[in-house]
Amino acid sequence: MNRLAVLGHPVSHSRSPAMQTAALDALGLGSEWTYEAIDVEPDRFDACVRELPGEEFAGVNVTIPHKEAALAVADQASRAAQEIGAANTLSFAAGGIRAENTDATGLLASLPGPVEGRTALVLGAGGSARAAVWALAGAGASVSVWNRTGTRADDLVRDLAVAGRDTPAEGLLAPVSGDQARAGSYELIVNCTAIGMGDEDPFEHLPLDPERLDAEIVLVDLVYAGSESRLVTEARSRSAKAVDGLEVLVRQGAESLRIWTGMEPDLDVMRDAARGKSPDG
Ligand code: NAP
Repeated sequence: MNRLAVLGHPVSHSRSPAMQTAALDALGLGSEWTYEAIDVEPDRFDACVRELPGEEFAGVNVTIPHKEAALAVADQASRAAQEIGAANTLSFAAGGIRAENTDATGLLASLPGPVEGRTALVLGAGGSARAAVWALAGAGASVSVWNRTGTRADDLVRDLAVAGRDTPAEGLLAPVSGDQARAGSYELIVNCTAIGMGDEDPFEHLPLDPERLDAEIVLVDLVYAGSESRLVTEARSRSAKAVDGLEVLVRQGAESLRIWTGMEPDLDVMRDAARGKSPDG
């Protein structure tokens, strides 16, 4: 048996077990591979991960609040995980624990086209923003970073510049104030804040003008709740291209599954399962 899981705290809301189980079934691996959710308190994370290889686990996804601890517990890490400073995918093999970050590759895969030479605004400076900025800057976008707590945006830009993602002389990666973000012209906007999980009005909390969400813009909202987020609804109503948080979840999950199984999962099967649709529709 090859066991897989998502480790988080809390984790009961996660769509990953349904999505990954459907993907494994569609690949014909359902009788040999399983995927479950495991709630792990932060002070148990290291010990829990070290026990998993002895319990038939081939790997795990890692979510809030363990992504930094996941990198720290690993024996080897991909360049993405090292430079972002966090991992969301662990694989267990004879050589030890390997850490990867598929949030970054998953975000790029969810976009409708290449970002090289595009202007991007990333909202937020937490873990998902770090992965987004790393991915977009590495793919050649010019990235502005806004965060409610401005010093965290400064720190993020400085850290990723140290990690070699920046070309500061060309001004390709920079923190911006709310006023600068509102005045700026962006082809891609990525919401990596927690705004949108509740009933808040995103346009009150984020430096975005709904009037400027037009057909020239791609909006990505990492937040996913039960229904379409207000940001995604607003963007779609104004003909902007919108990518929702479930699509990004599907793409990062597909990349993790490729790492563990070496096989190409069916994205539509994963999308339907993530959205709670049965295989019969
Ligand atoms: P995090 O590290 O806790 O960062 C939270 C961010 O939200 C910070 O930048 C924080 O700003 C900002 N924020 C919180 N409350 C705010 C408010 N009232 N107004 C403005 N900004 C506010 O979280 P994370 O891991 O980056 O995750 C962020 C969101 O992305 C979550 O909703 C998460 O579920 C989602 N996510 C989705 C995927 C996916 O696959 N779709 C993957 C990862 C994360 P301060 O620094 O000022 O506190």
